[in-house]
Amino acid sequence: MTTTDTTPHDPRAAGVHWDLAPLVADAAAARARLAEALDRARGFADAYRGRVAELDGPGMAAALAEMAAIDNALSRVGSYAHLRESVDVTDEENRDLTTAMDQGMVEAGNILRFFELEWLAMNDGDARAVADAPEVAADRHHLLSQRRFAPFTLSEPEERMLSERRPAAAAAWQTLFSQVVSTLEVPFDAGDGKGERPHTVDLLLAYVRDPDRDLRRRALETLYGALRPHTPTLAHCYDTLVGDRLSMDRVRGHEDPMDATHLNNELERHVVENMMGAVEAHYPLAQRWFRAKAGLLGLDRLALWDQYAPLGDARAVRYDEATRIIDTSFGRFSPGIADIARGFFEDRRVDAEPRTGKRGGAFCSSVAQDARPYVLMNYTDQMNDVMTLAHELGHGMHFTLSNRHQTALSAHTGLALAEVPSTFAELLTFDHLLETETDPGTRRALLCERVEGAFATVFRQTVLARYEQRAYATRRDGQTLTADRLSDVWFAANEAYYGDALHLPDDYRLGWSYIPHFISTRFYTYAYVFAHLVTLALYARYRAEGAPFGARYMRFLAAGGSDTPANLLRPLGVDLDDPAVWDAGFAEMERMIADAEKQPAG
Ligand SMILES: [Zn+2]
Repeated sequence: MTTTDTTPHDPRAAGVHWDLAPLVADAAAARARLAEALDRARGFADAYRGRVAELDGPGMAAALAEMAAIDNALSRVGSYAHLRESVDVTDEENRDLTTAMDQGMVEAGNILRFFELEWLAMNDGDARAVADAPEVAADRHHLLSQRRFAPFTLSEPEERMLSERRPAAAAAWQTLFSQVVSTLEVPFDAGDGKGERPHTVDLLLAYVRDPDRDLRRRALETLYGALRPHTPTLAHCYDTLVGDRLSMDRVRGHEDPMDATHLNNELERHVVENMMGAVEAHYPLAQRWFRAKAGLLGLDRLALWDQYAPLGDARAVRYDEATRIIDTSFGRFSPGIADIARGFFEDRRVDAEPRTGKRGGAFCSSVAQDARPYVLMNYTDQMNDVMTLAHELGHGMHFTLSNRHQTALSAHTGLALAEVPSTFAELLTFDHLLETETDPGTRRALLCERVEGAFATVFRQTVLARYEQRAYATRRDGQTLTADRLSDVWFAANEAYYGDALHLPDDYRLGWSYIPHFISTRFYTYAYVFAHLVTLALYARYRAEGAPFGARYMRFLAAGGSDTPANLLRPLGVDLDDPAVWDAGFAEMERMIADAEKQPAG
């Protein structure tokens, strides 16, 4: 699609389906290719098992090239199966294919695991010498970063025991938690004339964006009322998991409860602590917006249920207009980026039409290093859908460039940077729309969404991480994490954020109880804070520098996961060791708040 294409699409992106044929011809071909890839993996194991420590630079380079080829073949057929299934989960052939692929991936993992284990078992000096060889330069970071876990890894029989016992240990408490939360159903009258109907947690939470204030309040009160009888069980699940993680930390040798997460994210403790401190120092910025929003809504003070109350009413946007908006907003930043986005539309690598059997939400799949990425979303003609499309294409430009310039083993970044290109693409689209949009209701909605989207990530996720820190400290002091204690810790972390700018009802003491992140992966949320603040800092750079920044940003995308976050960000002017590194991001946020405050009340 080009900007001169004026063929209007039908509503809700009717007919916008992707074409998977360039990946694999059909299901039979996918099965055949999987079998071939598994054969190749067995051949690899025959050639290298027991010999990893003997490899020199050229030998390691040959092994990694073969590993990358196997990775590409497996990723391509695995992604093909999952993409097929995601647009028709009810189709039996699709489900059988996914099952076959998932089994194949587990088998491949088992066949190939020896390579990493032997690599980790080498002494530092020998491993460093191989990693420094010029022949493996493209995968140097991949090789060295695998070894960062070595000091915290136990012996092979110990690790095997732990993983064998996992289903009956930690996993059982996680399952119990999600069963309690996901099966919770409570009768609620949404005032839509349908009377009382059973509502899940997610359905109740969706009302916080409703224009009707009373409905928002009743939905939250109903939610907390329904959670209350379950909080002793939910607290016990969490207490057991925290206790288990703390004892595993002692066994593995992690000093701080956050260290295992930092290691995964390749971030240093002082960088994260400095970031969280900077976010807390800017809580008054959020409180300023809550006071302004109260004024815009005609209220004296916001209550918890007004936090996401809609301001403004965005107009509908047809899919063909959305593609033009993307093309212009990306093109203003860099023609190369706009070309990549256009490739998604021209090659039919976007599936946008919502339909029966298609999964919800949105994602971008990188597919494989030697293939092109695909985007799935459910386009419903809302302005939010334009932002979702920009977001997923932001991932898409990252995958396209890193796949082009990196090996299969070094193309992907970790969690800390993964959301940077997607958030950056959203900001480009917001700014373009705010310069061109004339409809007042749409402008208000956009201004408000840009601010509150940043808050939901930067501030809220920091509150969550602080809550976790205090919960782990409480447990480490020998105190059981009862529902009452968790409620105290939760309320204190939230009061620090909202101050007196927003009324927190007493019920909100139970706000911790249904949040799945605490249960599934500890301190998961701060990586989102990091990514969002990095993006805001980069955006400030772009606005100050203009076009020359675009070229450096493209190099950053092309670098994929070939280095640590700190080293990848330094050439862009973001120095994680500089205590003032986050100032530019908060200044950017302040600019967005000031824009939103200027809207007339109504
Ligand atoms: Zn994303």
